[in-house]
Amino acid sequence: MLSDFISLFFPRYCMACGNSLVKGEEVICLKCDYEMPRTESHEDAQNFVAIKFYGKVRLTDAVACYKFSKHGKVQKLLHRLKYDGKPSIGEFIGRKYGIELRDNGFSECYDLIVPVPLHKIKLRRRKYNQSAVFADGLSQSLGLPFSDRHLVRTIKTSTQTRKSRFERWRNVESIFEINYPEVLKEKRILLVDDVITTGSTIESCANALLSAGCRSVGVAAIAAAK
Ligand SMILES: [Zn+2]
Repeated sequence: MLSDFISLFFPRYCMACGNSLVKGEEVICLKCDYEMPRTESHEDAQNFVAIKFYGKVRLTDAVACYKFSKHGKVQKLLHRLKYDGKPSIGEFIGRKYGIELRDNGFSECYDLIVPVPLHKIKLRRRKYNQSAVFADGLSQSLGLPFSDRHLVRTIKTSTQTRKSRFERWRNVESIFEINYPEVLKEKRILLVDDVITTGSTIESCANALLSAGCRSVGVAAIAAAK
């Protein structure tokens, strides 16, 4: 009753298509939910996400909820999550996808969920880390703790003043560091990100976690590009 009353004055919209949500729909309308391309990668160990990491880093799982394509609904959704101040999108997808992963045994295979970190300057500007809100949603459905305190991103800037601005930008290199490694010892980590493209960020994070003594690392993302 009250929610009907509230939605009369504050209509809720689908974050992917902009149409009004009807009763029972949350964040994404049923039509978009049905139309957005799923990877079904959690049902196939040799899926296209996992193949990206072959010969690079050993991962226990590599899965993504949606297939990422330019100008599609998934890209629109991720854009709103990242730049439009809508953390509820990440949490919603995390909760939903978390149920599928739980049904595929992920709750028993991992100890801790760790999001790919944002640099603290970016975090201050954006107010939240889009991967951390996804991690929070996954954590609720999988019944596993999540922590964004252990894996942190720092930036190594080389001072090459004679280079052009573009070259200098290219020289800004992200480095992932581990805080409190003793807590991560022998832990099975589910590393999560919003979107996987080349996989190089995941590779760096996974290597940092494994070097710090984690027993294993698996990866889950909202979307992945082929
Ligand atoms: Zn929609």
